[in-house]
Amino acid sequence: MRYAVISDVHANLEALNSVLKKICAESIDRVLFLGDCVGYGPNPNECIDILQGQTEGFPAGNHDWAAAGLTGFRYFNPYARTAIEWTADILTDKNRLFLGSLPLVKKFDDNILLVHATPREPEKWHYLSNSQDAQLNFRCFKERICFTGHSHKPAIIEHSLKGKIIFYSDRAEIKKGHRYIINAGSVGQPRDGNPDAAYALLDNNSIEIKRVSYDIVSTQRKMRDAGLPLMLIERLSRGI
Ligand code: ZN
Repeated sequence: MRYAVISDVHANLEALNSVLKKICAESIDRVLFLGDCVGYGPNPNECIDILQGQTEGFPAGNHDWAAAGLTGFRYFNPYARTAIEWTADILTDKNRLFLGSLPLVKKFDDNILLVHATPREPEKWHYLSNSQDAQLNFRCFKERICFTGHSHKPAIIEHSLKGKIIFYSDRAEIKKGHRYIINAGSVGQPRDGNPDAAYALLDNNSIEIKRVSYDIVSTQRKMRDAGLPLMLIERLSRGI
């Protein structure tokens, strides 16, 4: 089986379509999604429809729940808050209900857990950024692989048989008996300094972070037309 894993689309239709086109050409068996289909970008309803039709998994992201009124967004920065208010206004009733129905954690099969933020206290939307966080989180799930998103920065974290934590940047062999937390990065708003859309590709023996360029200028034009904050428009070109 070959799985593509995508996260944090954030209503960026051009990035989503480019990634799905690449995935289609790669003979992938299934596409898993990790939440945050909306927020920041100009096409929330279109992205929800596509993701619902073409992906599996679908735990809630903090922006999904915020747009559906399920979680507060006072802690969001002012740009994210403006975008989530715009999103909540434009969502169809059907899509609002759909976002509000998403669970925090989704088991995919016996070996794979999907969660937007972290397996430890997923409702608190923590970030996982160092070995100490990783150790804590590996204790909070029993599956072999946990896929996450949320930080918009891809990462592959290995927990060895002896409990050692190893970080890989974009590729790792899947070793027998070892466990993994894999951050698939972000399709619609990468923040690791590379503006190309990111996703993860898992097969039996390896995990790889892939990148796909997309028509950023079209997304930015639509954001400008929608009156979304300039900071959110400009960051797409820089991938920060
Ligand atoms: Zn996000």
